[in-house]
Amino acid sequence: KKLGVALVGLGNYSTHQLAPALQQCEHCYLAGIVTGTPAKEKIWAEKYSIPQKNIYNYQNFDSIADNKDIDIVYVVLPVAMHKEYTIRAARAGKHVICEKPMAVSVADCREMIDACKKANKMLSIGYRLHFEPFNMEMMRLGQKRVFGNIIKINSSNGFIWGGDPNAWRLKKALAGGGGLMDMGVYVIQGARYTTGEEPLSVSAREIKTNPNLFKEVDETVVWEMKFPGGAIANCRSSYNENANFLRAEAQKGWFELSEAYRYGGMVGATTNGSMSFSNINQQAAQMDDFAQCIMQNKPTRVPGEMGLQDIRIVEAIYRSIVSGKEERV
Ligand code: NAD
Repeated sequence: KKLGVALVGLGNYSTHQLAPALQQCEHCYLAGIVTGTPAKEKIWAEKYSIPQKNIYNYQNFDSIADNKDIDIVYVVLPVAMHKEYTIRAARAGKHVICEKPMAVSVADCREMIDACKKANKMLSIGYRLHFEPFNMEMMRLGQKRVFGNIIKINSSNGFIWGGDPNAWRLKKALAGGGGLMDMGVYVIQGARYTTGEEPLSVSAREIKTNPNLFKEVDETVVWEMKFPGGAIANCRSSYNENANFLRAEAQKGWFELSEAYRYGGMVGATTNGSMSFSNINQQAAQMDDFAQCIMQNKPTRVPGEMGLQDIRIVEAIYRSIVSGKEERV
C-alpha cells in the first residue's frame, strides 16, 4: 500500500521538487493538493491525475479530515504559516511533514509538536539531507570519530538574491528572518550532524551591505558555535553570497563536502581521497522513509524536536547579534 500525500502550498518547492519526487516514491504518492490559487487546481489535476474530491483550498482545508485518500499533509508554505497548517492537519487526523525552517519561534514549534502528539500523529521536518549519501557519510565520519575528535567545523550556505524584492522571504512577518532562517538552518544542521553534538553557546554578528533590499530580514550572518566535545564551528549564511560547503577538521584528518546542501551534484573528499556515492532523489528518499515510519510505527530520524532545536539555536544567534555577546543556547 502507498500512503497518500497532500501538498499544501504549490510554490517553487512543491512544483519543481516535491511533486516530481512523489512520482518516484515507492511508499507514498501525490494524492491531493491544497492551494489558494484556483488556476493551479486544473493544471495540477490534469498533470498528476488528482481527483476533484482531493483538491482543497485554505478555507475548506479542515474537511480533509473526512478524506481517506490523504494520510500525510506536507506543509510547503511561507514559514510563518507552518504552525497553523501543521496544527490544522494534525487536528484533521493526518501525519505531517513540515518544511524547514520549522517555524518562526521555539514557542510555535512547541505548539506544533504538542498538537501532533495530542492527535497521535507523526511530525517530521523536510530535512532531506539526512537521506543523502554524501551528507550521511559526513555523519558517519564525524559521529564515529573516524578521524578522531573534531576540532573545527567550517560551513557556509547562501546565494545571491536575484528575485522579487517583494517576496515573502524578505518580509519578517512571513519569513521570521532572512538568510539565517532560510539557508543558515542547513549550516546549523551540518554542524550538529557532523559532530553528533548540541552546541552550548553561540556568538554572532550581522553584515548588511544592501539595507534597502534587506530592510526587514538579515542578509549575511556570521556565527560561531561551541560544542561540548571542544569543536568550534565557524558558520555563515547569506542572501548575498554564493557558498555551499561543509568541512570538518579532526585530530587525524579532514573531511568535507565542497558542494554540500544542494538537491544534487554533491562533491566530497577526505584526507584519504574523494568520496564516491551516487546522487539520489533526496526528496523521494525522505518522503518514502516517512511513509515507512508511519506504516511500521517507528520514529522518524527528522522529527519536530530536531526542527525545534534548530530554531532554539537560531533564536540564540539573533540574541547574540543584538547583545554583541556570547549567548547560551
Ligand atoms: P514559494 O514562494 O515558491 O511558494 C510558497 C507558496 O505559498 C506559494 O504557492 C504561495 O502562493 C503560497 N502562499 C500562501 N499564502 C501565502 C502568503 N501569504 N504569502 C506568500 N505566499 C503564500 O516558496 P518555496 O520556495 O516553495 O518555499 C516554501 C517552503 O518550503 C518554505 O518553508 C521553504 O523554506 C521551504 N523550502 C525547502 C526547501 C528544501 O530544500 N527543503 C527548498 C525550498 C523551499
